[in-house]
Amino acid sequence: MHPDVMDRLVSLCKRRGFIFQSSEIYGGTGSVWDYGPLGVELKKNLKDRWWHAMVRARDDIEGLDAAILMHPRVWEASGHVAGFVDPLVDCRNCKKRFRADDPRIKGEPGTPDAQCPACGMKGTLNAPRQFNLMFKTFMGPVEDTASIVYLRPETAQGIYVNFTNVQQSTRQKIPFGIAQIGKAFRNEITPGNFIFRTREFEQMEMQFFVEPGTDMTWFEYWKDQRMRWHQSLGLDPALLQFHQHTTEELAHYARAAFDVQFDFGGTLGFQEIEGIHNRGDFDLTRHAEFSGKKLEYVDQPNNRRFVPYVVETSAGADRTTLAVLVNAYREETVPGESEGRTVLALDPSLAPVKAGIFPLVKKDGMPEMAMRIAADLRPHYPVFYDEAGAIGRRYRRQDEVGTPFCITVDGQSTSDNTVTIRDRDSLQQDRVNADQLRAVLQERLAR
Ligand code: ATP
Repeated sequence: MHPDVMDRLVSLCKRRGFIFQSSEIYGGTGSVWDYGPLGVELKKNLKDRWWHAMVRARDDIEGLDAAILMHPRVWEASGHVAGFVDPLVDCRNCKKRFRADDPRIKGEPGTPDAQCPACGMKGTLNAPRQFNLMFKTFMGPVEDTASIVYLRPETAQGIYVNFTNVQQSTRQKIPFGIAQIGKAFRNEITPGNFIFRTREFEQMEMQFFVEPGTDMTWFEYWKDQRMRWHQSLGLDPALLQFHQHTTEELAHYARAAFDVQFDFGGTLGFQEIEGIHNRGDFDLTRHAEFSGKKLEYVDQPNNRRFVPYVVETSAGADRTTLAVLVNAYREETVPGESEGRTVLALDPSLAPVKAGIFPLVKKDGMPEMAMRIAADLRPHYPVFYDEAGAIGRRYRRQDEVGTPFCITVDGQSTSDNTVTIRDRDSLQQDRVNADQLRAVLQERLAR
């Protein structure tokens, strides 16, 4: 891994249109990012891979797209109103805020000796106060306490409150799951590290409802499945590990929890990209209590009813995208060439562009033929036509955004209808018939 991989990625992502700072022309907003033309494709491909693995390729998981704004009682039942808090210290002089456990704070906040890590003043730090990480807003035209709603800090609650709707409409039998991808919002006190920790992000969550007593077997099953999925994205197994929650880290209702961690390098090191949690019957029981509605599973053949236990898999789409980028970034020398190259060795299924299509030179019918090929392939694969500059530069530009194949129309092409196809990783070039390109790409992308 490159030692400055994060800095290099921030610059590459901006330069090549993967990720921009939000509202950049106004000086940017804190810790919110916009995905540009290539970034939106990369993140969409990642989410599609998740949706395929979790919903489409299985008959025991149903998809859902619940609203971001929910009844405010949801967040009382879930424990977020009372418990989704971080202790916070603010400075009366410079107005900056810090987490109470910020190692840069010297002394005990609230006492005259405590020193603000930002402005350096002594005695200006307030004693820690509990700060709720949920964003509040008002529903309807009246701004009063009765109309407060929250932007959801996780997608899971939309699944719990729809448990009966989904189970009854699909007639799924336990064990079964409900999955969704959607935005979540957290007013994080210390966001940062590019898209690692942001205040607006996307989650890919699945809640698997099981019979009590079978929960640990399913927990082990999902741990294994989710680790395999991350490896299937091309993440280096040496950069992936499990972290078991310690007793202090474990939520009071949780029966077991493991994080999938990825090594982001630098000062970050191994960090969570997904959590796998055995939540017992906490969520359904709480929502039943707060809503007054039974949230049970009726096992008709055995004439019994019970509250299912939940095994949750909760991944961040943005954080996993960052892991994929960190994992893929390389700077290399190229044999026989003085200039090196930057390459994103993305799994082809995730690459925003599948093939670059170039005429070797801008004459002798080569551009026309290359444009024809691009037009033929475009309905089937995202391709990029480029005729500007030396061919070597065009290859480098595609390497840098992770395009797995480059197709070149050269002097021979117009006479025998063959083109070269260059592999991003091996740099090998093969000559193939232009009419076979769709089949060749299909075969190579499936490898
Ligand atoms: P962390 O301890 O890093 O704040 P968490 O334990 O609060 O994470 P969960 O609530 O388990 O995270 O959320 C599940 C996943 O959602 C995380 O593994 C991560 O990928 C993603 N996620 C959580 N908070 C953020 C954030 N502020 N920005 C980007 N992704 C996030």
